[in-house]
Amino acid sequence: MPAPKAVIDYINANADKFIDKLAKAVAIPSISGDGKHRGDVVKMAHFLKGELEAVGVSVELRDLGKHVMDGEELHLPPAILGKLGNDPKKKTVLLYAHYDVQPALKSDGWDTDPFKLVIDEKTGRLIGRGSSDDKGPLLGWINNLQAHHALGLELPVNIKICFEGMEESGSEGLDDLIKAEAGPGKYFDGVDCVCISDNYWLNTRTPCLTYGLRGLSYFKLKISGPGRDLHSGVFGGTVHEPMTDLVYVMSKLVTPDGKILIPGVNDLVAPLTDKEKALYDRLDYGVEDVESAAGGRIAISSEKTTVLMGRMRYPSLSIHGVEGAFSAPGAKTVIPASVSGKFSIRLVPNQTPDNIRAFVEKYVKDEFAKLGSKNTLEIEELHGGKPWVASPDHYNYKAAVKATEIIYGKTPDMTREGGSIPVTLTFAEALDVNVLLLPMGRGDDGAHSTNEKLDRSNYIEGTKLLGTYLYELSTVQ
Ligand SMILES: [Zn+2]
Repeated sequence: MPAPKAVIDYINANADKFIDKLAKAVAIPSISGDGKHRGDVVKMAHFLKGELEAVGVSVELRDLGKHVMDGEELHLPPAILGKLGNDPKKKTVLLYAHYDVQPALKSDGWDTDPFKLVIDEKTGRLIGRGSSDDKGPLLGWINNLQAHHALGLELPVNIKICFEGMEESGSEGLDDLIKAEAGPGKYFDGVDCVCISDNYWLNTRTPCLTYGLRGLSYFKLKISGPGRDLHSGVFGGTVHEPMTDLVYVMSKLVTPDGKILIPGVNDLVAPLTDKEKALYDRLDYGVEDVESAAGGRIAISSEKTTVLMGRMRYPSLSIHGVEGAFSAPGAKTVIPASVSGKFSIRLVPNQTPDNIRAFVEKYVKDEFAKLGSKNTLEIEELHGGKPWVASPDHYNYKAAVKATEIIYGKTPDMTREGGSIPVTLTFAEALDVNVLLLPMGRGDDGAHSTNEKLDRSNYIEGTKLLGTYLYELSTVQ
C-alpha cells in the first residue's frame, strides 16, 4: 500500500522546514572520535530526544557506561531508544541510525564551514558534515513521524528506534546493549525486521538496496632473528635476513590478479547461483565506475560481472604494509632485526574469522618452513569480523523495492558491499530477524571526506521513500 497522498503532500509542503532541521542538526558538531566534542554528542542526543517526543515517541536515553579514549576516561554518549505504537495486529520495525559524525575542520580542505549547512541553489546540494552520514537519513524518519503527528494519522506499523552516538568510533557499548535487550520481555522483543539507513547508492543515478557486507580477518606476520639491526656490509651473505624471508612468504599469499593462494580459503565460498549472477549483470555500475572511483585504469578484468563480484561476493586478500622495515628516503644499508607484514582477507559466506584462521596459520608456517631459515615466525590475528548476507526475497526487501519503484520510478539495484557495518550483523544474529540496508544518499556524497553533501532531492524524496517503505511493509506478505 503506498503512503497516503496527505503524507506525501505534507513532505512536499514542509521540505524547507525539514532542511532547516537538518541545518540545526549539522550545527551540533557531534564528533564521537574526539573527546573534546563529547559534550556535543550528548547535546545531539538531547536535541533528538526533544524532536522525537514532540511527535509522540516515548524516548529513553540509555546510559552505556564509560570507556577510555586516548588515555582519558569518558562517559559514552547514550543510545536513544524509542517506541511508537503497540498494536499486535501490526508489524514492528526497528529503525537504526547514528547521530555522531566524523571529524571535520575547514583546514582539511572544506570550501565552507563544515558545521554550517550550506544550501547550494545551483546544484541542489546540502553541504555539511553529517548531512548524508547519517543525520539526513536519521531526520528522514523523524520527518515522517512529524507528518503523521501533524495530520493526526496513525502509523501503519509499530516502530522501535535505536539511534547511537558512537558509530564512527566502533559502536562502543552498543553490541552489549543489543544482546542484553534481545529476548522475551526485553526492549527489542517483538521486532519483526530491522531497517538501517546508513549507506549510499553505488552511483549517482540508481537507488539500491544492500543485502550483504563482507567480513574481515586481519593478520600480522612477524619474522625475527638478529638481536639488533645489522649492517649489510658486515652481515650481508652471512645470516638469514628477516626481510628476505618475509617478502618470500608474503609473495605466496595472493597472485597479482587477485587469486588467493591459501588452500581451503576459497573452498568455503558459497557457490554462485544463476539467479544471483543475473543480479550482477543487471547492476547499473560498470568497470568505468570502478576505475573512476579508483582514480586509475587498473580494474582486474574488463568483465563487469567479474569486477563487481570481486568486490561484493568473493573474498579478497590485500597486503597493507611492513612494520619495522626501512621506509625513509635514501640508501640506508640496514638489515632490519624484526619485520612484521600486515595483510587482511575480506570474508564472504561461509567464511568466518574462526574457520579462516587455521588455514592461514598452517599455510604461512608451511611456506616459511620450506625456506629452511633459522629465523623465527609468529602469526597473530589482529582483528576479525564475520560477513553478513540477508535474504533479498524477504518481505522487508520486497517492501523496500516497491517503495523505491513508487518514489523513484525505478527498480533498485540489489547490491552487496565490500566493507563492513558491524551492527548489521549484531542485529541479525541477536534478534534473529531480517535486516535491510535502505540508503538515502548517493555514491558521491563524500561521507567521511571533505565537502560532504546530501542532494536536496535525495533528502526530500528519500524522506518519502522511508515513509512509503513503512506503508509497503504493513501490507507486504
Ligand atoms: Zn554512517
